[in-house]
Amino acid sequence: MIWYPYQQMKTMKMPYKIIDANGVYLYTEDQKLIDSVSSWWSVIHGYKHLALNEAIKSQVDNFAHVMLGGLTHEPVLKLSEKLQQWLPGDLDYCFFSDSGSVAVEVSLKMALQYFVNRGETQRTKVLALKHAYHGDTFKAMEVGDDEDYHFILEAFGEKKHVIHIPTEISAMEEVFANYHEQLNCFIVEPLLQGAGGMRMYDISFLKRARELCDQYGILLIFDEVATGFGRTGNRFVADLVLPDILVLGKALTGGYIGHAVTVANHKVYDGFYSEDPNKALMHGPTFMGNALACSVAYKAIELFEQEDYMSKIQKIAEITRREMEGFFDPRIKEVRMMGGCVCIEVYDSNVLNGFQQFAYEHGVFSRPFLNYMYAMVPYIINEQQLIQVLDTMKAWFKCRK
Ligand SMILES: *Cc1c(COP(=O)(O)O)cnc(C)c1O
Repeated sequence: MIWYPYQQMKTMKMPYKIIDANGVYLYTEDQKLIDSVSSWWSVIHGYKHLALNEAIKSQVDNFAHVMLGGLTHEPVLKLSEKLQQWLPGDLDYCFFSDSGSVAVEVSLKMALQYFVNRGETQRTKVLALKHAYHGDTFKAMEVGDDEDYHFILEAFGEKKHVIHIPTEISAMEEVFANYHEQLNCFIVEPLLQGAGGMRMYDISFLKRARELCDQYGILLIFDEVATGFGRTGNRFVADLVLPDILVLGKALTGGYIGHAVTVANHKVYDGFYSEDPNKALMHGPTFMGNALACSVAYKAIELFEQEDYMSKIQKIAEITRREMEGFFDPRIKEVRMMGGCVCIEVYDSNVLNGFQQFAYEHGVFSRPFLNYMYAMVPYIINEQQLIQVLDTMKAWFKCRK
């Protein structure tokens, strides 16, 4: 038996069984669906991409995996060099892991130990945002602020080591002034908070965050597991404001295999670099730097560059804006758009009941959650396919008066 994610198994409706996938399409026995979720925002190049398939196939004939403890190999060396050159600023040191949540854990451990290595053991607190989502492992859950995880608050009393603030500059200035001596890092999903409800905020907040982190000597972490690789209309938000630690996942491998990376700048890396073995970063996921994952990730970045994905994302943003213009329904609280993401927030979550099946019948796979109906399409989508996705979202409100 499979225990499915985020589901009450007793009342769950059976998931759609996929028998094939190609380009933007998922195929069931009886339907062809545009994947408007990009398999949890990861499949940016579409399914069954020939170049990505080839990257994995040629590596698997070499070897599929060797551990990084005491061993290294060409695919992981090539990917880390590529990331070093491709990522902004001095984000040069790549620590690989098998999922976004683990990569977030690594970033939080890095930030804490960075200060412990300097003897600043009182810096135990993390600053995070209201409505944050950073993954489902324990520390990631604690720095998160998703209402579905508030049971851990109940179980543990309160989140003693995390302070959550709204995306307001005044609140941020106040918390820095009051708590800077106890903080080790500020972790954010920059510009776009995904699983917390596709909430968007302004770059001025992040610019001020950078200044305050510099002023008080606190590390700034960008969790770009969701926002990275163009989703906000920027290649990385880190291109606009430079963090000390950058976390990437989801689209890193084009959605082919779970893999993630925590990238540190020179300052953070130097905080561990020492003769003292106790100052080393004690972490090592079994499958870190997996050769298949690294090979496909390298190819995915090459495609992103060579096929000018930023202009594809620009086009998606333009078409979305045009198609959503003037769209209104009294049940809708807000329509939000940023880069390759559009979200319709409704007042009452019951309004979205049945939408998934409706979308299925209209040839679209969608997975609304709470009060949010959204699309984060693969970047290879064409205009007609994108319009089909957006029309399906709009049609739900028109058909159900
Ligand atoms: C999905 C997500 C994660 C967790 O990644 P997994 O690979 O599912 O563990 C962390 N942070 C953000 C912002 C995410 O969207």
